[in-house]
Amino acid sequence: MTAKNLIIVESPAKAKTIHKILGPSYDVTSSMGHLRDLPHSRLGVDLEHDFEPHYIVIQKRRKFAKELRENARNRQAVYLAPDPDREGEAISWHLAQLLNEDEKSQAQKKKRQAEKKPKTPKSNSKKASNGAAQKSPQTRKLYRITFHEITESAVKAALKHPGTIDVKKVNAQQARRILDRLVGYSLSPLLWKKIGRGLSAGRVQSVALRLIVDREKEIEAFVSQEYWTIEAALQKASGGASFTAQLERIGEEKPQIPTQQEAEKLIDELRKQSYVVEDIEDKEQRHLPKPPFTTSTLQQEAFHKLGYSSARTMRIAQQLYEGLELGKGNPVGLITYMRTDSVRIADEAMKALRHFLQDEHGTDFLSEKTRLYKSKKGAQEAHEAIRPSSLSRSPESLKAYLNEEQFALYQLIWQRTLASQMADARDRVVSVRIAAGRYRLKAVGRTNIFAGWKTVYQETSENEQQPQQQDQQQEEKTLPVLSVGEPLTLLNVSPSEHFTKPPRRYTDASIVKTLEEQGIGRPSTYAPIIQTIVSRNYVSRTGGSLFPTELGRMVSDMLVEHFPEVMDVKFTAQMEEELDQVEEGSQEWVSVVRHFYTPFSQRVSIAQEQMREVKREVIPTEHRCDKCGKPMVIKWGRFGQFLSCSDYPNCKNAKPIPSGVACAQEGCNGELVERRAKGRTFYGCSNYPNCRYTTHRLPKTEGSDPSHPQKDPENPGVAPAQG
Ligand SMILES: [Zn+2]
Ligand SMILES: [Zn+2]
Repeated sequence: MTAKNLIIVESPAKAKTIHKILGPSYDVTSSMGHLRDLPHSRLGVDLEHDFEPHYIVIQKRRKFAKELRENARNRQAVYLAPDPDREGEAISWHLAQLLNEDEKSQAQKKKRQAEKKPKTPKSNSKKASNGAAQKSPQTRKLYRITFHEITESAVKAALKHPGTIDVKKVNAQQARRILDRLVGYSLSPLLWKKIGRGLSAGRVQSVALRLIVDREKEIEAFVSQEYWTIEAALQKASGGASFTAQLERIGEEKPQIPTQQEAEKLIDELRKQSYVVEDIEDKEQRHLPKPPFTTSTLQQEAFHKLGYSSARTMRIAQQLYEGLELGKGNPVGLITYMRTDSVRIADEAMKALRHFLQDEHGTDFLSEKTRLYKSKKGAQEAHEAIRPSSLSRSPESLKAYLNEEQFALYQLIWQRTLASQMADARDRVVSVRIAAGRYRLKAVGRTNIFAGWKTVYQETSENEQQPQQQDQQQEEKTLPVLSVGEPLTLLNVSPSEHFTKPPRRYTDASIVKTLEEQGIGRPSTYAPIIQTIVSRNYVSRTGGSLFPTELGRMVSDMLVEHFPEVMDVKFTAQMEEELDQVEEGSQEWVSVVRHFYTPFSQRVSIAQEQMREVKREVIPTEHRCDKCGKPMVIKWGRFGQFLSCSDYPNCKNAKPIPSGVACAQEGCNGELVERRAKGRTFYGCSNYPNCRYTTHRLPKTEGSDPSHPQKDPENPGVAPAQG
């Protein structure tokens, strides 16, 4: 039986959840993503006529599109329910185009048939035979509905107030799609022609690549400086536990101790001094909880706490959002929509959250007033933060139904949501200044007096980007009870050697943080940006850090030289803002595209002429081609540098560049060669597939780079498959 109403969403899991919620009066089907897009084989954008896009039904989706059109015929109402953001709006718009075209052609068909055989009530269409549609001359109604969580109340509320497609949102998405298309279709062939076959470049991804390349150059240019600090162990004159104090001042100056010699000179001096408590500051320090999750903060925290890449986090979050079967119960969406830059919590949910905290943790642990967090500028205030759809589903109660990663992510979202409305954590901080002649030392004690929100959520260090600043010691440390004027006994003075550290390489977490801070990318694009540059072999993920490959550096440098705007962070952020303005209705999408494209296309023409032809700069080697005996040369390709026969294209022999390091497998005479798989670089044997030896790092470089973190969160200690 076909229901009168049809709901179309973009994913099968979501369709299943909604179907279970609504029962048989609605059919629910999924478009499985986009059905229409720009064509694959040509630009598909009319440069002569206001960048008019020529969308086509995606080749592989033609059969499905036809079925969907038939499915939607003779319905009373069709509800388009893709996700509540630009992408979802665009999918809805494309679906509406498809269905409306179909309705028109069906109407014409009927009209023609009616003219031919006016007496015959039957129609050719199978579905039309149920009669209802023929009796009612009314046309099918097409609605757009949105909801931020897939729960009974949210879906039913959306159906009660169906809306129409927001054309401004669609235009914003269209402008982005066209900009990306224009850049991709111009830059990729250029790279192909100038550097190597198969290379490509995109708009926002290239800026992210540049950030990573620039960071690598900073690290290379960094010169580490030695410096020393001095610490004293002290004790009350009456004895008792010892405590430590740092040398803070020499006279009015902060101590600058560049060498061991100077440190020892100071230590000699400090040994001769008498120590007395000069000042005590005793105060309460409050720590505020963080706002509930947005896409960006969820990705950052999931990386720090669970070791997940941004893409992995989004994949799991989507499963939680779209709904999971909970035992015999109906599937239900466990969290709100995961692509958001809003930290707002809807009024109803806020009420429930505060009640829950009061009941579960008591009034003391509830923040006095409702905490209202500010979303970043330009955030979609109609959106919500990422939170559990119902607090009645505690992580523990779901544990049996979720897999390990779903449970871990749900728990993280749960805890962060709770913490966001809990009372401040309070520490007592005692700072003691100690006088020793012209020297001043400082000892700090910290004790927690109220855990507040920290009972449910662990804070992550903010200093990932600035290793220079020692982490603000948050750990507890007690000092003996001291009073001003009290003499102290010096037990020991000791120096410690330090070195200034280069900035850290980006990780999934810190690049997402940076992209958001700089205004590049949006919740829907952070994870794909990283995935794209990794899959293009411009960046490799090693030990959780993002390293530019040689190929990535070359492409980035060439693009920076010839396309300074495209590679400029501020310029790209400006483009993002203009797209937001299209969505708000304060800019026309065509003018945004034109404003970008006119100067860009000039740059492309100049680069065609002037860009270095790296492709021609082949590097000779001593290797001989094992097929034709001619010398092999080094060229650039999609996987970086490789050995190619100098007689290309007559001889197409190509192979990876040997490292000069012998294979470690016993009895194998092969040599290790660099290979890549899934964005990781590793070394495999030149005798592959006969020898399957692999290693992450060449033996001679093993352990020589202390800046590599030890843990690879995505792939702990497992060599990727060769291939
Ligand atoms: Zn050859
Ligand atoms: Zn081998």
